[in-house]
Amino acid sequence: MTDCIFCKIAAHELDADIVYEDDDVIAFEDMNPQTPVHTLLIPKKHYDNLSDDVDEALLGTLFGKVPLIARLKGIEESGYRIVANTGAHGRQTVYHLHIHILGGANMPISMGPAD
Ligand code: AMP
Ligand code: ZN
Repeated sequence: MTDCIFCKIAAHELDADIVYEDDDVIAFEDMNPQTPVHTLLIPKKHYDNLSDDVDEALLGTLFGKVPLIARLKGIEESGYRIVANTGAHGRQTVYHLHIHILGGANMPISMGPAD
């Protein structure tokens, strides 16, 4: 997708602080971190989100990389939270499938009431 910022990061056309990369996925630091560790993990191939008929094998590859990214970021032992905001009610803002990997501190127990 030509206008997708995460496609541009995956293609190295836009700078990002890259944590990990292979043929299928790339992980980079969120530009507006919400926690001490806040890394985004995306497939290089564009899908809008989890509801975009994502290839199941690719989903396995993507989620399967989460513990590796956590290890690289030093939070595998302390624990972490993953989030995949999906669509309008999910408050997704960037429409390229991504997993937030959040850690480095205790997460809030509750996400708070929906509005
Ligand atoms: P979401 O609200 O789940 O769609 O999350 C999108 C995330 O992407 C937000 O946490 C943003 O801070 C982050 N983000 C947007 N643009 C960039 C960028 N160019 N580099 C790194 N992170 C970004
Ligand atoms: Zn994209």
